[in-house]
Amino acid sequence: MRCRTYRYRLHPTLRQTQALTRQLRYQCELYNAALEERKGAWNWEKRSVTYFDQCKTLTGLIDVRPEVLSSGVTLCRGTLKRLDGAFASFYRRVGTGENPGFPRFKWTRRWDSLEWQDRSGWTVKGAERRLRLLGIGEVKMNYHRPLTGVPKAITVKREGAKWWVNVRCVDVPASLLAPTGREVGVDLGVVNLVALSDGELIEGSRFAARSSERLANAQRRLAKKQRGSDRRSRQVQEVARLHRKVRQQRMNAAHQLSRRLVNEFDLIVLEDLKITPMVARPRVKPDPRNPSDFLANGAAKKAVLNRSIHDAGRGQLRSLLSYKAESAGRTVVVVNPRHTSLTCYQCGHVDQKNRVIQAVFRCCSCGHEDHADSNAALNILRAGRARLASASDGPNLPTTPSNLTRWACSVTTVSSLPAF
Ligand SMILES: [Zn+2]
Repeated sequence: MRCRTYRYRLHPTLRQTQALTRQLRYQCELYNAALEERKGAWNWEKRSVTYFDQCKTLTGLIDVRPEVLSSGVTLCRGTLKRLDGAFASFYRRVGTGENPGFPRFKWTRRWDSLEWQDRSGWTVKGAERRLRLLGIGEVKMNYHRPLTGVPKAITVKREGAKWWVNVRCVDVPASLLAPTGREVGVDLGVVNLVALSDGELIEGSRFAARSSERLANAQRRLAKKQRGSDRRSRQVQEVARLHRKVRQQRMNAAHQLSRRLVNEFDLIVLEDLKITPMVARPRVKPDPRNPSDFLANGAAKKAVLNRSIHDAGRGQLRSLLSYKAESAGRTVVVVNPRHTSLTCYQCGHVDQKNRVIQAVFRCCSCGHEDHADSNAALNILRAGRARLASASDGPNLPTTPSNLTRWACSVTTVSSLPAF
């Protein structure tokens, strides 16, 4: 079942905005009340309360707080589901031995979305460019592209002064593209956003870096405002707007690049980089001579690098690539990044010394010279082809392109680069 989420801008009237804002407040209250119930039941009676228990109590709300149910019980279930999700990920992290935070009470001002989890309580009226919401009314919607598939659920979001709706559709038909006979390895770097195995280097735009000065100014002005003042809350909005802008620019760049790659290539090979450990903070170094003091550990330098890793938007690019590729019938293979940047594409020699100068790859065995990222991209392409070839020899073959994509995306370990 192929899913797709469509995002549209909403233009609610003043009255509708007030109704939506009120509903946001009610749902936040409901979330907090449900969390309170779960905590209380456990603290006092050692009894755990499930999502379904809480859904059953919703009907009782009609007598005491009818306004909470005014946009339908579906919306309230969406909120309870969100709490349930918070608990589920809390227990998952407990299970894997991480250091989880217990689900917290939410602040009304930060509660920005309403989730209708099934098909009741709302209708998308594409022809009239309206979204009908129970208890809110018919909200004007910028229906800039038609929905495909079956709309299943929606999320209405507030971002600053703007409102959006995300419509989740299932059974979205594939729009297969004609094969181009070309294959590509993609190296996601920090300096260049992307190096392709055909030698092309695509410069990342470093959006956050570009607007960092403006952001820093806005934050400085924010720091000078008096707490609780109107000016401060306006400045908070301004800082949030700048952050949002960077996020949207990144998203846009990732959409354009992934679309280009999917249009041009039949096979796209990526390396499987785990971003979280890459952006981990360096460990603190205690000073052996003075136990209350610490030695320099390069944290500031690493923070700068981390910022550019986040700025490159790799995770985003990968997820956009995989869904676009699946829908277009292209294949995406993910390979282990181990040694891809240290291996010579010509002779296969693996050596740290091949990378004496940062951007240049110079093989100390055969003398082959290339841009370091292009060399890595070629290695990635080779690893991906080998991965596919070994898959087509083995049993339980994935046959259709979409199966193959899904299978390949789930493959994350290749023990090493293939033999040369
Ligand atoms: Zn070599």
